[in-house]
Amino acid sequence: MEQPHALLVASPGLGHLIPILELGNRLSSVLNIRVTVLAVTSGSSSLAETEAIRAVVARGTCEVTELPSVDIDHFVEPDATVFTKIVEKMRATKPVVQDAVKLMTQKPTVMIVDFLGTGMMSIADDVGMAKYVYVASHAWFLAVLVYLPVLDKVVEGEYIDIEEPMKIPGCRPVGADDIMETMLDRSNRHYRECVRCGEEIPMSDGVLVNTWEELQGNTLAALMEDGELSRVMKVPVYAIGPIVRSNQPTKKPNSIFEWLDKQRERSVLYVCLGSGGTLSLEQTIELACGLELSGQSFLWVLRKPTSYLGESSNDDDLVSVGLPEGFLDRTRGMGLVVTQWAPQVEILSHGSIGGFLSHCGWSSVLESLTQGVPIVAWPLYAEQWMNATFLTEEIGVAVRTSELPSKRVISREEVASLVRKVMGEEDEEGRKVRAKAEEVRVSSERAWTQGGSSHSSLLEWAKRCCLLSFTNNT
Ligand code: UDP
Repeated sequence: MEQPHALLVASPGLGHLIPILELGNRLSSVLNIRVTVLAVTSGSSSLAETEAIRAVVARGTCEVTELPSVDIDHFVEPDATVFTKIVEKMRATKPVVQDAVKLMTQKPTVMIVDFLGTGMMSIADDVGMAKYVYVASHAWFLAVLVYLPVLDKVVEGEYIDIEEPMKIPGCRPVGADDIMETMLDRSNRHYRECVRCGEEIPMSDGVLVNTWEELQGNTLAALMEDGELSRVMKVPVYAIGPIVRSNQPTKKPNSIFEWLDKQRERSVLYVCLGSGGTLSLEQTIELACGLELSGQSFLWVLRKPTSYLGESSNDDDLVSVGLPEGFLDRTRGMGLVVTQWAPQVEILSHGSIGGFLSHCGWSSVLESLTQGVPIVAWPLYAEQWMNATFLTEEIGVAVRTSELPSKRVISREEVASLVRKVMGEEDEEGRKVRAKAEEVRVSSERAWTQGGSSHSSLLEWAKRCCLLSFTNNT
C-alpha cells in the first residue's frame, strides 16, 4: 500500500511560509506520511523565504518546491496592501499549482492550503482530493473571519464608527481597538478579499487552526458545537497547536548568545517587531529612551525607522540614524542592539530571557508562550491588534498601553513602566502575568503529549482523511 501523501500550499511571506513548513514537519513526524509543500514565494525579497525552505529540506521531513514567482504588477495597484498582494499572487499562481499537481507521480490524498489561498481549493476538487484550510492564527481570529460575511450584511457604515463592540456568537466581542486592519475601510478591495476569504473557508472539508483546546476552549466550542457560529462555520475545526519552529542549537550566532550567556536568569527583555514591523523615527527614539529608563537589560532587534525605509544604509548607519545620541555608550553592558535577522526561537528559549516586547504576530506569540515568556504587546498592523487584546484581556499573559502604539507615539515613561511591569520582581500585575505565562507554557506542552488535546485532534483529522495507515500513534 502506498504511503499517504499530503500536499500543502504556502502563501508568500515568512508569516505564512514558516507555519506551513512547520505544519508539514509535524504531519510527517507524527503521522509518518509523505508531505509535499508547494511554496508560493514573494519573488524579489524572498531570500529569507529561501533560507526557511532550505532549513526544512535539510531536516528531510518534507519535499519542498519553491514555485516560480508570477508577476502581478500589471493588475495590482502599486499602493495595494500586503494582504491584497498575497491574495492576488495566490490567484495568479493557481495554474502553476494545477500543473505541479498534474505532474505528481503519487497523487496526494489531501490538500491543505493557507487561508489566503482558498481559491486554490478547486484544484483539489478537480482531482478528487480532500481540501483543508490552515489558519496559522488563533480561534478568535478564525471566528471573526468566518463571521465577517454575516457582519457585512447586517452592519451599516464603517465598523470602526460603531460604539458598542460587535458581537461574534459565543466569542469575545470585537471592540474598536480590535478591528482588523482589513476591516477598517469597507470600500477597500482589501476588505472585499477578506469577506471572500471568510465565505470560502467554510467551503473546505475542514480547518486546522494553530491554537489548543486549553487556551481557547470556549471559542473552539462556539465554532464546533451547535450554535449560530458553528452553523456559519459548517465544517469541522481541528485545534492542533501550538506548532512552532523547533530550537536549532547549531544555528546560533555567537555574539548574541555569548552576551545572553552572561546575563542573569530571566533578566533580559527581548525586543523584536517581527519580520516586517518598523517604527517611526520618533517612536524608535522613545522606545530606546524607555528601555534605558527602565533599567532592565534588553536585547533589541532594531529595524530601519519608517522614514529611512527607502534609503540605502548599512547596519552601522542604521544604528546611528535610528538611536538617540550616546545611547549605545550609556547602555553598554545593559543592552545589546542587533540589526541582522535574529534567531528568535533560540533567543526566546535562552534562560536569560524574561520578557518579550513583541508586535504580536501569532508565530512570535506562540514562540514566546511555549517558553513561558510574558509579553509587552506592541501591535502594529493586520490582526495583531486582536492578538494583543486576546493576550492581555482574555489570557492575561501580556501588558500593553491603553492606546494602540500604531495610533500615537508611546512615550519613554510609558515604555519604561510597561517593561518594569513585565520584568520587575516587585510588580503585582507582573507577577500575575509571569505566573500565567508559565501556566500557558505547561498547557501548551501538555496539548502535544501523547493523548493531549492537539495530538488527539490531529489524529482525529488524519483518521477522517484516511491518513492513519502508517502512523504508530493510533
Ligand atoms: N523572526 C525571526 N527573526 C527576526 C524576526 C522574525 O526569526 O529577526 C521570525 C519569528 O521567529 C517568527 C516570524 O519570523 O517565526 C515572524 O512571524 P510573526 O507571525 O510573528 O510575524 P510577521 O513577521 O509575520 O508579522
